[in-house]
Amino acid sequence: MTTAPAATDAPESPYRSYVYAYPHKTAYRRLADRPRLDALWAGEAKDALSLYLHIPFCEVRCGFCNLFTRIGAPDGLTGAYLDALDRQATAVREALGERTPVRFATAAFGGGTPTFLTAAELERLCDIAERRMGADLRAVPLSVEASPATATADRLGVLAERGTTRLSLGVQSFDDTEARAAVRPQRRADVEAALGRVRAARIPVLNIDLIYGIDGQTEHTWLRSLDAALAWRPEELYLYPLYIRPLTGLGRRAVDPDPAWDAQRLRLYRAGRDHLLAHGYEQRSMRMFRRADAPPQGADDYACQTDGMIGLGCGARSYTAELHYSFDYAVDMHEIRGIVDDYVARPAADFAHAEYGRRVDAGEARRRHLLQSLLQADGLEVADYRARFDGRTPLEDFPAELARFAGRGWLHDTGPDPALLRLTPEGLAHSDAVGPELFSPAVRAAMAAYERK
Ligand code: SF4
Repeated sequence: MTTAPAATDAPESPYRSYVYAYPHKTAYRRLADRPRLDALWAGEAKDALSLYLHIPFCEVRCGFCNLFTRIGAPDGLTGAYLDALDRQATAVREALGERTPVRFATAAFGGGTPTFLTAAELERLCDIAERRMGADLRAVPLSVEASPATATADRLGVLAERGTTRLSLGVQSFDDTEARAAVRPQRRADVEAALGRVRAARIPVLNIDLIYGIDGQTEHTWLRSLDAALAWRPEELYLYPLYIRPLTGLGRRAVDPDPAWDAQRLRLYRAGRDHLLAHGYEQRSMRMFRRADAPPQGADDYACQTDGMIGLGCGARSYTAELHYSFDYAVDMHEIRGIVDDYVARPAADFAHAEYGRRVDAGEARRRHLLQSLLQADGLEVADYRARFDGRTPLEDFPAELARFAGRGWLHDTGPDPALLRLTPEGLAHSDAVGPELFSPAVRAAMAAYERK
């Protein structure tokens, strides 16, 4: 059981939770009626969908990771997983129907580590996206996550040839000792070699993920890692604060509030942000920085910006305007293995239904729009909100929350009738406190009642 964040006037920590999707999956529940996907999608616009394929395998489990993934795969499991993915894709594509045009505007392979799959398996994954789902991978932005050890030349060759436009490499730290402390053992030489292979594959956008707040990390070692990343001139960099979450490798240690650690993470965040801004990068959100002269890439982030998402694979979420759904979900390794085994054994007919999820009513849709826009550096255009939500404004719908953020100096003051709501630099630094404060009481209660497994 976990405790949901409560909205208070003085946030106890700037690091409450990373809101990459709202409502959070811990607010999903088993859907007693197992709604049919064809009925769920019947009235939806399907001409600019996002496609996401989840590969729940990694070589090691990083100490900070709470994503849906298992370590390794016994013989035959990845093949059986792709068979299940194929069955699911066929069932889902059929459910989308033929009456209105179905078109995918973006695609992403995530995990886990998609490049845990062999080159031949990656070909098959692309075939599933193209032939079963009808996504034109060479014509849309396609983002793929990889780890240094699995970013081999043959796999990258397949991904580049099939249309990958963005390769995101989970480096976390260029310092071997810090990598070990984050329970992600790797050698800098291997990371550098992997980056060389990614650049040689000529995928247009390289993203490097780095983490701050690791045990023993100092401002000096943090900036050294940043400089090592900058030497590759990545088009994007994501800077993640380290979180220690229940049931993860590091989470087996105590998860008590730690103001000194909060202060250290804030300090490192500011140092990292300023360093990147001084080196020609623009800040897009608390975590995301883009090289100012990088080619435009369409969707910033596959992570659920809009309605209309088809997620395939266990652990993947799908969104219609009124229902967010997925399969069962867990963090504990033993539970994850059981869920993956269950997924690969599913007959095709099972994939025509949604099993876990949460309905998103009009009030939640407004919160979601506010959250997802406000947490971007560009902020929220009030005219967009008005157009989408019956002429109302966020200030009319969320006066208490916005007044609280303004009172803390987290919102730019643009007068009583602003055209744009935008976080200040301090507000952006506190994104992981801003987000949870915008959760509805109902979502908070569901998250609090969720039994972690
Ligand atoms: S952080 Fe990435 S590479 Fe590490 S265990 Fe999680 S999904 Fe796998």
